[in-house]
Amino acid sequence: MSGPLAEGDPVRVLVVDDDEKNLRALAALLARVPAELVLVRSGEEALRQLLLGDFAVILLDVQMPGMSGLETAALIRERERTRRTPIIFLTAFTRTEATLLGAYRLGAVDFLTKPVQPEEVLREKVAWFVESHRVAARLEQERERARLAELREHERAVLDAKRRGEQEALRSEMQRHRELAARLHAANERLHAISSIASGLLFADDPARVLPQLSDVLAARLGLHVYLLHQAAPDGALALTAHGGVPEGALEKLAALPPDRTVCAVAAARREAVVVEDAAAGDAWPDLALLGISAAACFPIVASERLLGTVAFGTREAKRLEPDLLAALELSAGHFASALERARLVAELTSRAADLAEADRRKDEFLAMLAHELRNPLAPVLSGLEILRWENAADAARKRALAAADRQVRHLARLVDDLVDVSRIRTGKVELRRGEVEVSRIVEDAVAAVEPLARAQEQELTVELPDRRVVLDGDTVRLTQVLENLLNNSAKYTDPRGHIRLTASLDGGELLLRVSDDGIGIAPDLLPRIFDTFVQGKQPANRARGGLGLGLTLVRSLVELHGGTVRAESDGPGKGSTFEVRLPARAAEPAAPSDPTPRRNGHARARPLNVAVIEDNTDIRDTVRELLELAGHRVCEASDGNAGVALLLAERPDVALVDIGLPGLDGYELARQVRGACGTRLIALTGYGGHVERERAAEAGFEAHLVKPVEFEELKDVIERLATRRPLAQGIEGVQPCQST
Ligand code: ADP
Repeated sequence: MSGPLAEGDPVRVLVVDDDEKNLRALAALLARVPAELVLVRSGEEALRQLLLGDFAVILLDVQMPGMSGLETAALIRERERTRRTPIIFLTAFTRTEATLLGAYRLGAVDFLTKPVQPEEVLREKVAWFVESHRVAARLEQERERARLAELREHERAVLDAKRRGEQEALRSEMQRHRELAARLHAANERLHAISSIASGLLFADDPARVLPQLSDVLAARLGLHVYLLHQAAPDGALALTAHGGVPEGALEKLAALPPDRTVCAVAAARREAVVVEDAAAGDAWPDLALLGISAAACFPIVASERLLGTVAFGTREAKRLEPDLLAALELSAGHFASALERARLVAELTSRAADLAEADRRKDEFLAMLAHELRNPLAPVLSGLEILRWENAADAARKRALAAADRQVRHLARLVDDLVDVSRIRTGKVELRRGEVEVSRIVEDAVAAVEPLARAQEQELTVELPDRRVVLDGDTVRLTQVLENLLNNSAKYTDPRGHIRLTASLDGGELLLRVSDDGIGIAPDLLPRIFDTFVQGKQPANRARGGLGLGLTLVRSLVELHGGTVRAESDGPGKGSTFEVRLPARAAEPAAPSDPTPRRNGHARARPLNVAVIEDNTDIRDTVRELLELAGHRVCEASDGNAGVALLLAERPDVALVDIGLPGLDGYELARQVRGACGTRLIALTGYGGHVERERAAEAGFEAHLVKPVEFEELKDVIERLATRRPLAQGIEGVQPCQST
């Protein structure tokens, strides 16, 4: 038996004696002691029993063979478990002092001599040890029970604590969940408000109308009680286009604040968000104080690096706007940027579409008018031809018919020239042939061109020139065209017997050309557009000659190409008009006696030449041939490229007039084939007067380039100059000398 004594276990007493008799006597003596006696006959046996279990007391014989009682006791004391087990030594011999001392040193509780007298002493002593062992065992048990109870209590406390901890964790977890749910809800609200703004902006024609429709959403869901939307005007100035939650009367005061004291102006100037917390704490933002706002944020609205406006939100409840809300509001500023940019583009497209529709309408009008204007001159030409066909027609009638046909064909040619010029100027193909321009010369030429019309209408045309010679740097032909257009208009838009006045004067370093008349005048609404393409005023009923609304466009373009300006003035319908052209003048010297350039006129006979006409259009070929023959020349002709080459090689004429668009072989190829082979001077005749065509003609071997229709006088002049190897005249309209090859 080992371990503490359990309840109900017998208490044991170990009796050690080598003598059987003694053992029995002791057993008898202790029979009434309430304990179990374990009787052993040697120290070794005793030690073995002690290993097996505890004893209340040991009765140990001192003299035993083998291991003595004292030796056994010494070994017993060495073991921790038995160090305090009471030992009563028994001896049959006289107790020596040394034995006694040894026994007590070994912790003997008594040392008795056998036979023990009186026996009760031993019995009582043993009984006492038995009892105290039982008590000690019970105490031990109780201590153990208490320890176990304490242990259980501790475990329960630990469990409780654990449970409490778990509950606490659960509670805080639930709290966290609640907070998360609240944040989710707030985020949803923000998302809802922002998506309402975004979808509102997506479909709104006018972004400024979106915020007022959402003011409830902003206030109820986001706690934003005030909003201000400013939009930038084209000049960059900010204008308040939508607002909500602004107290009565605050708007005027807001507008009166200096711009650097308002969040919106500062956000616009810095082009970055301005976020204000605890606005009531200071006086940095008087605008927020006026609006009663405690926290605000203002975002610039920027698209393609352009400031389109600002959008500001404010609350009266919180001291600061949460970061998530700020992020959401910034997002809405981005939506505003897209919406405002889209609105701007839509407006731009709408206005462009309107412009295009207007241009389309003007083009239709123009085409109708063009057809009319081109057909008109044909009628007198056809009737003139009819008269000429009548053999019995009077000479005077023939002359009139010829004069009318001449006027109308020139007019037609002029309309076509204007059209071609405008399109060439638009595509940048007009090049000025710059040189020294004598002002008196352009005035003289322009006046000469307009005189017949003015004279026909009995209009008085006065010309005033500067008292000194004025020279410009420019293109004589083009500047004459400018002046001629203006004078022609004055003649067209002035009643018969009206007055036209042309003055040329020097104004500072500029030449000022003024063409004024007392004609029909110009309506104020027409004046600002008068130089635009196809723009025409109401045409007078007695209008002598039509136009295409291109004359003034050409005037302005040509003047600007010369670095000058032109403007029109009129006091209104019936009050006459004045056109002023200013051009940089190059020099001014006292007027030299003018060089009376003889005007080209008549059909003076020249040395007869051999001229080839290579042209597939029979009418053109026939008329040119007849005119050349009338002028005294000999003409041979061909109607296609190959026949042309054969003709030139066979006839070797002085000059050949070659159409470029010939069947078979075109004019360029023809020129290449005969070049150098026949000595004939080649003149190109074409419908295109562009720079490229001129260059191609020069490359092919042509020496002059004439654009159809060509005035016969000019054609004759070029032919005769080439044939006699004189230089080509500069500035003859329609004649472009090619670079010599
Ligand atoms: P067009 O004469 O072919 O109509 P223009 O471009 O030369 O075209 O002129 C445009 C318009 O300006 C004319 O239709 C006419 O209404 C007005 N205008 C031009 N010159 C005068 C003028 N001297 N007096 C009154 N109106 C004029």
